[in-house]
Amino acid sequence: MSENKLMLDIKDLTIYYETDAGVVHAVEGLNLQLGRGESLGLVGETGAGKTTTALGVMRLIPNPPGKIKSGQIIFNGENLLDKSEHEMRKIRGEKIAMIFQDPMTSLNPVMTVDKQIAEMIKLHKNVSESEALKLAGDMLELVGIKRERAKDYPHQFSGGMKQRVVIAIALACDPELLIADEPTTALDVTIQAQVLELMKELKTKFSASMILITHDLGVVAEICDKVAIMYAGRVVEYADKESLYLNPIHPYTNGLFRSVPAIDEDVDELPVIPGLMPDPMDLPKGCAFHPRCAIAEAICAQEQPKMCDFGNGHCAACHVMAKRHGL
Ligand code: SF4
Repeated sequence: MSENKLMLDIKDLTIYYETDAGVVHAVEGLNLQLGRGESLGLVGETGAGKTTTALGVMRLIPNPPGKIKSGQIIFNGENLLDKSEHEMRKIRGEKIAMIFQDPMTSLNPVMTVDKQIAEMIKLHKNVSESEALKLAGDMLELVGIKRERAKDYPHQFSGGMKQRVVIAIALACDPELLIADEPTTALDVTIQAQVLELMKELKTKFSASMILITHDLGVVAEICDKVAIMYAGRVVEYADKESLYLNPIHPYTNGLFRSVPAIDEDVDELPVIPGLMPDPMDLPKGCAFHPRCAIAEAICAQEQPKMCDFGNGHCAACHVMAKRHGL
């Protein structure tokens, strides 16, 4: 990807949590790129390191116990890991905004929703209180909430509406990058579809780049252009959505697809990937997936597989698949 198209370039990022029980290897040598205007689905099971990666980009890893041990997070050509906390405060909200899973963790229960949006606007833009409140009303309308409800408190909204308010706060300063961490998980299914539809619309309207963290390949299919599959703190496959869905390469990605129900098939039981995610305090040597992998060979328990390009930027880290493709 050319330099001017590249917005985010995460290089060799390693993040640990030092706990009394031992060191949790949350993210290990992670590499990831995101182009301007692109949306990337970051997919994996709980504990794969998706949220830690996002918190790393926001520089919100709680320290202690968390620590960004090494790597670089290049955003618009500058390494975020070199920024002071003061500089990061300006970047958060204005350049990079994050939507969390549970809207109540982001909303202040004792403040009306228009004030919460206006606060974010005033923090980053030189506008008066009344202008900020007017813009807050505009943002509410944009996310499908009537202006008349601007003076309501969060508890007066349903879960889906609260998440709309959170989206309005996140987009209030027109960020260049929006990170959404399982934004629909806490909502029921019909509301999930509405919020996803809204995010799809807003993505086009704001032309922001987006990282959508999810364990749901269906959600990614709806919204994203690119997909990165994470396992045990690393990206194991990265491709355009079409390429990944038509031709998944990594055995873990294939396992994920097999465990998704197909609407045209009537099966009693879906195949699951045998075994569990490895303990992040005790990751296996070599490829972390090898204890669960049906095609593992001796080398898999010894050497970490390198990311290889299988064609047109479709990359995967797998010894056996690389050998089968003559790479
Ligand atoms: Fe399976 Fe080996 Fe590939 Fe890992 S490197 S996914 S263990 S075949």
